[in-house]
Amino acid sequence: MRPIQMVDLKQQYEHIKGDVDAAIHAVLDSCAFINGKPVQDFAQQLSAYVGSKHVIPCANGTDALQIALMALGLQPGDEVITPSFTYIATTEVIALLRLKPVFVEVDTKTFCIAPDAIEKAITSKTKAIVPVHLYGQAANMEAIMQIARKHNLYVIEDNAQAIGCNYSFSNGTKKKTGAIGTIGCTSFFPSKNLGCYGDGGAIFTDDDQLANRIRMIANHGQSKRYYHDVVGCNSRLDTLQAAVLNVKLKKLDEYIAARQQAAAYYDRAFAGHPKITTPFRATYSDHVFHQYTLILNDVDRDGLNQYLADRQIPSMIYYPVPAHRQTMFEAFGSDASHLPGTDWLTERVISLPIHTELDEEQLTLITQNVLAYINQ
Ligand SMILES: *Cc1c(COP(=O)(O)O)cnc(C)c1O
Repeated sequence: MRPIQMVDLKQQYEHIKGDVDAAIHAVLDSCAFINGKPVQDFAQQLSAYVGSKHVIPCANGTDALQIALMALGLQPGDEVITPSFTYIATTEVIALLRLKPVFVEVDTKTFCIAPDAIEKAITSKTKAIVPVHLYGQAANMEAIMQIARKHNLYVIEDNAQAIGCNYSFSNGTKKKTGAIGTIGCTSFFPSKNLGCYGDGGAIFTDDDQLANRIRMIANHGQSKRYYHDVVGCNSRLDTLQAAVLNVKLKKLDEYIAARQQAAAYYDRAFAGHPKITTPFRATYSDHVFHQYTLILNDVDRDGLNQYLADRQIPSMIYYPVPAHRQTMFEAFGSDASHLPGTDWLTERVISLPIHTELDEEQLTLITQNVLAYINQ
């Protein structure tokens, strides 16, 4: 049996090696390393796939979020509502731009930002909401967009973990996550569902003016060569990475299906266990399973993690410290005791290996060992 990994990039590469190697060699032959044709091709393909009018590739998912916030022209001190239960990048860029992150609770079933918590946190300084489609399932976007319209707020979707996820509105309309809010952001970090072989990211919007601004900001605020209208940054997707992504985007739906199959195996193995809560499925969203995350009830989580590690089975805690308890946010006067649901999750979640290459033998070994520890 192949060693079990949280993400098996090597095995995935073996299956697409011919196409990837050819795409990379074509870039090497062209020497168009910056903004080569594969970058435009990828932006076009992704725009069609996600259903967003504009796709602006950039250097990574963190930059995507930062550039999105910059493009909205927010002013220092403006408040941005965001979950605390997320990867640090979501909240860090808010503080970096001297905006004020306002951490709110997540729904402990879906792990995503709770719409009623958003409403309660709105003040006269609130300008934007940053929902995160955590682990690969969408936040309740219909409710979030309603709140945003009512209070005239921007919505920036952090779609780094949910590319390809379909969202269903109550009137039957479907949209892909990242194409619902004012702006959507994603990451192509290697372990993401659509990962390249280095860093990469992209920004989505349907708004022409915003798209122009985003393009400008990602390129030193440049409107035409050597004319710089606004303060920007330098954030590009490498041509080499775009070439890899062009191969992998064609596979994305297949990859999602493979993840969903592994998740279904886990679900069956753990169904009804009193000490294990399997991932909740919201009616309004697919789940593309960037992570397969359990809530443990009355289980020694460190003990389980060690028991599995001793048997060469990795498991991870995403995330052990929520944003509102991070030292970096102390200066923002965050009250570290007001998010009991987030703290509760932080102490109980554990993520099992999930990727496109898991086979039944591996899944059997993982589930048998999880159950052996919990039932002992
Ligand atoms: C990965 C990730 C990011 C950041 O992406 P990078 O490409 O690593 O900068 C942001 N938000 C979430 C939720 C992520 O999972």
